[in-house]
Amino acid sequence: MALPDGFIIALEQVCEVRSGEAVAAMDPGVDAGNLGAGVVALPTSTGQVQSIIKLCSAHGVPVVTHGGRTGLAQAGVSAPGQLVVDMAGMNRVGAPDPTAGCIEVEAGATLHAVQEACKAVGRTPGIDLAARGSATIGGMISTNAGGMEAFRCGVMRHRVLGLEAVLPDGTVMSDLTRVTKVNEGLDIKHLLIGAEGRLGIVTRAMLKLEPLEQAAATALTGFASAADAVTAFHAMRSAGGLLRAEVMWRAYVDIVSQACGLPEVATACSGDVLVLFEVAGGSFEDAQGRLEASLERLTEDGILADAIIAQNVRQQQDFWRVREDSFAVESTWPNGLWYDVTVPLDQLDAYARELQDRVSGLPGECFLSVIGHLGDGNLHITICVPADATVSKKQADEAVFEGLKQMGGSISAEHGIGLEKMAALACHGDPGRLFAARLVARALDPLGLMNPGKVQALTS
Ligand SMILES: Cc1cc2nc3c(=O)[nH]c(=O)nc-3n(C[C@H](O)[C@H](O)[C@H](O)COP(=O)(O)OP(=O)(O)OC[C@H]3O[C@@H](n4cnc5c(N)ncnc54)[C@H](O)[C@@H]3O)c2cc1C
Repeated sequence: MALPDGFIIALEQVCEVRSGEAVAAMDPGVDAGNLGAGVVALPTSTGQVQSIIKLCSAHGVPVVTHGGRTGLAQAGVSAPGQLVVDMAGMNRVGAPDPTAGCIEVEAGATLHAVQEACKAVGRTPGIDLAARGSATIGGMISTNAGGMEAFRCGVMRHRVLGLEAVLPDGTVMSDLTRVTKVNEGLDIKHLLIGAEGRLGIVTRAMLKLEPLEQAAATALTGFASAADAVTAFHAMRSAGGLLRAEVMWRAYVDIVSQACGLPEVATACSGDVLVLFEVAGGSFEDAQGRLEASLERLTEDGILADAIIAQNVRQQQDFWRVREDSFAVESTWPNGLWYDVTVPLDQLDAYARELQDRVSGLPGECFLSVIGHLGDGNLHITICVPADATVSKKQADEAVFEGLKQMGGSISAEHGIGLEKMAALACHGDPGRLFAARLVARALDPLGLMNPGKVQALTS
């Protein structure tokens, strides 16, 4: 489907526009279908975004906004007849203000660029994820990203003090407050956070900052069960200074450490459930000392099966590489089915065991790989399906989603709905909530032009 006559000519008056070979030369990111629209607009200012949206509205052209294209739920997939609005050119990072505790950034700035700017004044945006080099603040806001620090600093929703966005009719909402406490009626920015680009284009954000710890030490710890890992998490949290707690089941560590050329990480620590604990300190030695003391107490209490504290930066990086190179599972098992769920911590052990039983009951010799953000009970699950086995999405969904809603968990933790979880949301989402979301989407985007066919299809 071609874009309407005159649309491209008008668009080229607004900003750089790419099509054909120029689009083919662009990196589609995580999903090969992201650039399927074949036409990409690259605005460099809020005014240009506003003009683009007005043009799209006038010509009835659907818009798919892109940040770093690292999204894992197919929310950025586009099709011919649509326009991709790539926010890479709006990447300015303001000066962090350590006194007010905030930083103003454009939506296309990468998380890494923001982290580096904050580091210079001893602060952090309080959020981190492995895709930091490409993921943008606008994309992270639109997927309400979580990551490794969410158990203590919250998810993206809690990091945003203020927002500027162009709404579907071209209205600019400029709500760049620099304070946490604002009670001025309905807080519309929260509608855009996690909306996956269906209620407007985020152009700028005011982010809340946290103090940056001076040093940190990391331990790879092993437990006999997820229940012991959860007990250890609470003990470490109470001891103070816990920065990260990333859980990896044994099968994951075995696959990824081999794939990364770091087999020594898998053999360094025994136990079925491994956890990377990172603890803060005034210096590396101080952090190591705190970590050692906590691990000793866990050993005395009979909770810890094994542990190794990284002795230098290199070993620390090796441990984290095994946690962050999770795509190695997908390369090793290309037919894998991925999931991103949250489980209340009191149910984590039972859920993990029952999930293993259900996956063992699937046709073929399916294999389970699980990692996650322990403090949030957020599990990233891959059901690895051998090439000669056939497992339907429905069978896999049932194995993963069983009991989650009843126990107060979620079928979609931090990656969003996109195209990937539409059926799951239709099946498990609360009808009342979907009804209200439908009304909001219709009111703000009556033409249904913002990221159509994704989660909006359920809510329009
Ligand atoms: C190796 C790896 C590790 C990851 N780890 C984590 C993790 O720990 N936690 C986590 O939460 N996620 C994680 N992710 C997922 C991903 O990084 C996040 O979803 C990220 O927030 C997406 O940002 P992006 O800029 O790449 O957005 P994109 O992928 O470009 O877009 C994602 C969605 O946001 C919309 N969007 C993008 N920019 C805007 C904008 N300015 N205005 C309106 N809508 C917009 C798009 O239309 C789409 O719906 C990981 C991904 C990878 C590849």
